[in-house]
Amino acid sequence: MNNHMMAAVLYGKEHLQVEPVAVPTIGSGDILVRVKVALTCGTDVKVFRRGYHARMIVPPAVFGHELAGDVVAVGEDVTRFSVGQRVVASNSAPCEDCFFCRRGLQNLCEDLLFNNGAYAEYIRIPARIVERNTYEIPSHVGYHDAALAEPLACVVRGFEECAPHEGDTIAIIGLGPIGLMFVKLAKLWGCRVVAVGRRQQQLARAQALGADELVVAGEHSDPVKAIRNLTHGRGADIAIEAVGKPQTWQWAANMVRRGGTVNFFGGCPNDSTVNLDTALLHYSEITCKASFHHTPTSMQEALDIISSGGIRARDFVEAEESLENLTRVMFRLAEGGTSFKTAIIP
Ligand SMILES: [Zn+2]
Ligand SMILES: [Zn+2]
Repeated sequence: MNNHMMAAVLYGKEHLQVEPVAVPTIGSGDILVRVKVALTCGTDVKVFRRGYHARMIVPPAVFGHELAGDVVAVGEDVTRFSVGQRVVASNSAPCEDCFFCRRGLQNLCEDLLFNNGAYAEYIRIPARIVERNTYEIPSHVGYHDAALAEPLACVVRGFEECAPHEGDTIAIIGLGPIGLMFVKLAKLWGCRVVAVGRRQQQLARAQALGADELVVAGEHSDPVKAIRNLTHGRGADIAIEAVGKPQTWQWAANMVRRGGTVNFFGGCPNDSTVNLDTALLHYSEITCKASFHHTPTSMQEALDIISSGGIRARDFVEAEESLENLTRVMFRLAEGGTSFKTAIIP
């Protein structure tokens, strides 16, 4: 193996360069993976625009976190994997020892280890992720499908946190890739889905994935009223906010029924605040949730759903691009409005 490879390095705000870097060296518990597919993610786009993410990535650093590939080298202590296996590795692993991990809240681990560098020919998977959050890809599952496991794990966890029941009416606000995964997952659970979005193309995607009703969130429409009209005035059983704006957080809280559950899934810009109607929350007994990230359990569950064909890459991944075009792809995604991810083939 040549000891150099091409990789995307994030230097700062909208400053990304695809350049030769050393192939990572691995420690005794690590594995080296030849990346076959790396998927773009809304978080990467956010980080690209902002230049950093306090918890996940501090530049200069290799970039990208949704990947599937082949194991090409293993450290001498690795027993779970061997060269030649097809794997999907999560972008994090918990310590399993802190206050939060011991309570089953691995996503809130005090020492969550993050890994980046998927937009590259090779990526080092550190020992802790190798042990706790890397999975062999079943032979009938493609790399593109498997690479969806990480974002789907966040969605699976967020959805289950809402304790949905078959037949529930679920309002989903925001129809980017994450919102659309919620649409598809809720349909797999047998729920009635009302998809709320701005753009025609996104609403059409939601419909294609099984959404039962569509609500256009435009200048002159009131999505809260629309949801009430569709539910005999009661409101949705569950509302999931997948945009990350204070206004849509408010809509979500205002469109659930008495005793309903809201999931503020989309992270708003730093220092955002939201006004909530306290009387509504109190007298209507609204449960408010906000889900962040995933756990090894939700990763496994996500991979099981993918493996059974419930979630397929062709519904969420639109185009393939070479690694060289990554910066252009990021600028395009930063313009917003797409309901698709792009597969980067390094
Ligand atoms: Zn992601
Ligand atoms: Zn922990």
